[in-house]
Amino acid sequence: MDCLFCKIAAGEIPSNKVYEDDRILAFHDIAPVAPVHVLFIPKTHLAGVRDITADNADVVAHIFATIPKVAEQLGITDYRVVSNNGAEAGQTVHHLHIHLIGGATLGGMV
Ligand code: AMP
Ligand code: ZN
Repeated sequence: MDCLFCKIAAGEIPSNKVYEDDRILAFHDIAPVAPVHVLFIPKTHLAGVRDITADNADVVAHIFATIPKVAEQLGITDYRVVSNNGAEAGQTVHHLHIHLIGGATLGGMV
């Protein structure tokens, strides 16, 4: 499958990693919108939140259990987590990813 984040997960395209284990990867966003902007992805391909089911939700829980550890490691206590789903919502890479954004005062959203 021609998926950018599958290629990053496989190491075929380099990324600036901040966390990795057998199931997930976290790496710095190439175009950060704040001093801390990290993307968390499952190594297995899911197109987005719409692909999450009871059978594969473990990896999503694992991502959310890892986010606070990575945030602490990066020195932030206050942050935003967001996942864009579908082009209309701003999704440009169609492999599930959770943005961790912080390190600055963030504007209101929604
Ligand atoms: P979204 O727009 O929610 O689909 O988020 C995709 C994010 O991936 C954007 O914030 C991009 O800046 C980021 N991105 C695209 N290509 C790369 C890459 N090669 N390495 C790291 N981040 C990337
Ligand atoms: Zn993928």
